[in-house]
Amino acid sequence: MAETSGDLRFEGITKKFGDFVAVDDLDLTVPQGSFFALLGPSGCGKTTSLRMAAGLEEPTAGRVLIGETDITGLRPYKRPVNTVFQSYALFPHLTIFDNVAFGLRRRGVQDFKKKTQDMLELVQLDGYAARKPTQLSGGQQQRVALARALVNEPGVLLLDEPLGALDLKLRRQMQIELKRIQTDVGITFVHVTHDQEEAMTMADTIAVMNHGVIEQMGTPAELYENPRTTFVANFLGQSNLIMATVTGRSGDSLVVDCEGQTIEVEASRSHVESGRAWLGVRPEKLTAVPTGREDHAGANVLTGGKVSDVSFVGVSTQYLVAMPWGEELMVFQQNTGQHTPLGHGDTVDLVWSPGHAFLLDAKQDAHAG
Ligand code: ATP
Repeated sequence: MAETSGDLRFEGITKKFGDFVAVDDLDLTVPQGSFFALLGPSGCGKTTSLRMAAGLEEPTAGRVLIGETDITGLRPYKRPVNTVFQSYALFPHLTIFDNVAFGLRRRGVQDFKKKTQDMLELVQLDGYAARKPTQLSGGQQQRVALARALVNEPGVLLLDEPLGALDLKLRRQMQIELKRIQTDVGITFVHVTHDQEEAMTMADTIAVMNHGVIEQMGTPAELYENPRTTFVANFLGQSNLIMATVTGRSGDSLVVDCEGQTIEVEASRSHVESGRAWLGVRPEKLTAVPTGREDHAGANVLTGGKVSDVSFVGVSTQYLVAMPWGEELMVFQQNTGQHTPLGHGDTVDLVWSPGHAFLLDAKQDAHAG
């Protein structure tokens, strides 16, 4: 077996299928011991990247390393890597215990019984050792698949949409469970998903992939609060994107013309210096205030909005506000009792703090509202 510890690194990895470039010159470091999510839409190259780490797909160019060891040419079973797929692929005729113990027995590990028991305890299935896979629920089967991979003590565990087959409630439970298990064992987890909420719930670091390249990498909060591209802004949560023009600078802020109204954006949250830009504001960062009701000193204000839709969704009320230039903006207000509920047709100002918006390069073509 190759070296089992160290960061997982992709160096200049490209994968072509014929003329089609599925993964394009990928440079990526997954820190050892982290819970890392590779997030992106269907077909962006996530699974192909994972399969190259597992040795199931050969890169067209580039290297895969663990620590300082180049594992690019190694057969899958020689790599310190295990994979858990969406289909659990358990052996149906074996008990849960035997499924988990399978790899240990094959390698002649002496204390396989204790290791298997410990692993079943970790995934909270110690009472189920004698059952067969068909006698377990989907979530329990997924935990067996996880135990079977983890018991081999891989340096890196690759998870390819492992929760995709579970219903929403179970998926939420398993997300918390997976995070707990990863923290307990301290193994590097690389989790492939197209579900932004899943990635944000579990991962320390997320790499957002699009058309075979990483658009941005960071903590969930960094990506959400300070996206660098319209694709990332739209893929992680909802965002209002308004066409604007940077007209100057005032201290640490950029002065921005937004459809004839002047606002400011912190320079540290701007990815453009001048000219045309997308102004991004998350719906929950906006407050809709009846026109003329309050003094908004220090805040940004867009005036002339008209409430065009009201949806009560329990924890929040979601408003659509039609702006004078024809666009509708989303405003989410927490139902804490502090806001006066608004009605259809009310005239409002939209207010937010200068630190709560971001500016993106308008030359990108990826804006998909
Ligand atoms: P999904 O979430 O739908 O699984 P993904 O991001 O994991 O998507 P990949 O499975 O990595 O995407 O596929 C990336 C692209 O490469 C897709 O356009 C896919 O059609 C193509 N592709 C993958 N495997 C092959 C193959 N063996 N031959 C030809 N094209 C392939």
